[in-house]
Amino acid sequence: TIGAMAGRMGLECYLIGGFVRDKIMGRPTKDVDIVCTGDGIALAHAVAATFPHRPHVSFFKNFGTAHFRYNGIDVEFVGARKESYAAHSRKPEVTEGTIEDDQRRRDLTINALAISLNSNNYGRLIDPFDGLGDIERKIIRTPLEPDTTFSDDPLRMMRAIRFAAQLGFAIVPEVFESIRRNRSRLKIVSQERITDELNKIMATPTPSIGLDLLYRSGLLQEFFPQMVALSGVEIVEGKGHKDNFYHTLQVIDNTAAKSDDLWLRWAALLHDIGKPATKKFEEGHGWTFHGHEVVGERMTPKIFRQLKLPQNEKMKYVAKLVALHLRPISLTKEDITDSAMRRLLFDAGEDLEDLMILCESDITSKNRQKVKRYLE
Ligand code: ATP
Repeated sequence: TIGAMAGRMGLECYLIGGFVRDKIMGRPTKDVDIVCTGDGIALAHAVAATFPHRPHVSFFKNFGTAHFRYNGIDVEFVGARKESYAAHSRKPEVTEGTIEDDQRRRDLTINALAISLNSNNYGRLIDPFDGLGDIERKIIRTPLEPDTTFSDDPLRMMRAIRFAAQLGFAIVPEVFESIRRNRSRLKIVSQERITDELNKIMATPTPSIGLDLLYRSGLLQEFFPQMVALSGVEIVEGKGHKDNFYHTLQVIDNTAAKSDDLWLRWAALLHDIGKPATKKFEEGHGWTFHGHEVVGERMTPKIFRQLKLPQNEKMKYVAKLVALHLRPISLTKEDITDSAMRRLLFDAGEDLEDLMILCESDITSKNRQKVKRYLE
């Protein structure tokens, strides 16, 4: 329908982006993106008018995009664009372009694939940057020189890492080096867009993969220095402590293996966040992080504000789990009192099960089984 209507209007049109990538990879597809030469909004209206019940078309004139929902599928239309960026401006100059111009402004080769819907070459894959080969090789590359692609929109650096983590692809060294070089450019990107990508990484089955890439590329330091502060090991009088950054990654993975809840994963991410501020070396004893869970509880709202995460019940839940996470460990001591037990049950309330997942995921909780038995 879409191709035929575009033909009648004298436009070329193509399926593009994530839909094409996911179809080729055999992943479930969600939204459909259509790019056409000329007026995408007019095409969207014309197509919608041919469907029974005429879906409502919403559009943004300034961006030249239009969108409707049909049979539970989001269909988005955009006119093919050519973008050119001046060195010191964030806003590109946008002009009408060809399909190849539109593919050049995409973030990654695997996201720049198009399928023709035109009658003369219907179904043909248009792949000027060998995105198909990159899907087969399982690699992340940019359509243009990575420095160009990334400086045009620095969020693409995070997207490269997010797709590597989601798809299990490797970022080619040239691209990874470019991310390291351009990392400070992330500062011009809005926090909402950054956090969106971060949460997509947090939602992957093994969040440590993406988080470690963020750390090693230097991007994490740009927007979440408190987490980077967890890294490293100090040795005094021959005594070292564990690297709390890598420990935290392990706890997140263990938590992710047990639950899909994004906010429980955030609690895992923040469970030791108070440690750098409370770290002390006590002579004859060793390293202590006394009170770090209280500091962590206090830091949680600040971090939620900084990352523009919701300031609501979710945040309170995360802060509460951060504060409580060591309590079940203290319950394993031999002389545990009934009142301490009751307090934990009371404080954790309906989040008790989540608290237990968090504590069980913390591989340094030595007495996991004991805690479980107490609670049972
Ligand atoms: P998902 O839906 O899993 O996030 P997706 O590839 O559909 O994957 P979207 O963010 O919906 O991701 O973007 C759709 C398409 O738009 C991408 O496949 C890519 O071609 C293009 N795109 C999105 N964001 C950017 C960007 N920052 N720079 C360049 N191209 C982008």
